Amino acid sequence: MDIGIDLGTANTLLYARGQGIVLNEPSVVAVKEGSRSALAVGTEAKETIGRTPGSITAIRPLRDGVISDYEAAEEMIRHFVRKAVKGRRPRTRMVVCVPSGVTPVERRAIVHASRSAGARAVHLIEEPMAAAIGAGLPVSDPRGSMVVDIGGGTTEVAVISLGGIVTARSIRVGGDRLDAAITDHVRKEHALLIGERTAEDVKVAIGSAWPVPGEEERERATFTVRGRQRVSGLPRTLGLTVPEVRAALDEPVEAIIAAVRTTLEECPPELSGDVMEHGIVLTGGGALLPALDLRLASATGIPVFVADDPLDCVVLGSGRCVEDFDSLERLLGRAEKGR
Ligand code: ADP
Ligand code: MG
Repeated sequence: MDIGIDLGTANTLLYARGQGIVLNEPSVVAVKEGSRSALAVGTEAKETIGRTPGSITAIRPLRDGVISDYEAAEEMIRHFVRKAVKGRRPRTRMVVCVPSGVTPVERRAIVHASRSAGARAVHLIEEPMAAAIGAGLPVSDPRGSMVVDIGGGTTEVAVISLGGIVTARSIRVGGDRLDAAITDHVRKEHALLIGERTAEDVKVAIGSAWPVPGEEERERATFTVRGRQRVSGLPRTLGLTVPEVRAALDEPVEAIIAAVRTTLEECPPELSGDVMEHGIVLTGGGALLPALDLRLASATGIPVFVADDPLDCVVLGSGRCVEDFDSLERLLGRAEKGR
């Protein structure tokens, strides 16, 4: 059995050769304090965030794009592989996508965790490359392609040509920072404390990077949140408006735009010329923030496209490699082969 894994900071997806995407769950592990064994993993564990009694913690082992908790990460990979691939797993080969910023120590940890989950051979592939393949970009051509993958913990910006990453940048600004910006705004402006799950709900329901043309109705929407008043500690509800949420998101959105600008500046002129001509492709869940594409296009003067199914691009890219291990080995000449 050959498996591709998108080990994301927010979501983990698995692709099985010949089958397609077989698992898609949050990268969360719930553990009981003191004991190291997981009480719940994935969807079930995410439900517990913000709702756990003191003795249970919901861990996101890859939260900021680095492995913050090795044991939890290992447990999570093992759990997902067992769940997705039933029965015996003889001669399992895995292609695991990792953030481009991970250290050699972390790469070894991921290889180790994959092997303990039953992999005979492990290939690591950099996320922006997988995202670009999954988005259908011509990565092997002698032509610069730019992909911006906006995940939960990180945004990865990369220019790819001839099957390799030419220039890349990874910043720790992604969907989580957008959520935190909403939480901060509500605390400062309305003296109300809301949880991170609530902030994410606000973002997904009424968040935007710019006014969305042709959707004036949407501009007038409000979203009601429940929180706890800072001073009295009592519960209260509050209606948030679209323009105020957009203003709250401004800073992290600008940080993402700045990362794209810097990457373009660092990129050889022929390749940035290609990007100018063919545009920038957005992948990852953050690409779904309404009008982010328009704002980025206006800021850079370059056309911007949102990939089809942006949340699936990375795992589909790994899947393409899994379907064709021979071309993978050619493509990943530089990548390590876990032994
Ligand atoms: P990762 O690869 O780091 O696991 P994903 O690509 O799975 O991350 O994206 C998860 C992020 O996308 C989360 O922060 C989530 O809130 C955000 N997201 C998902 N859907 C939307 C949406 N419709 N609008 C804005 N953000 C979204
Ligand atoms: Mg991702």
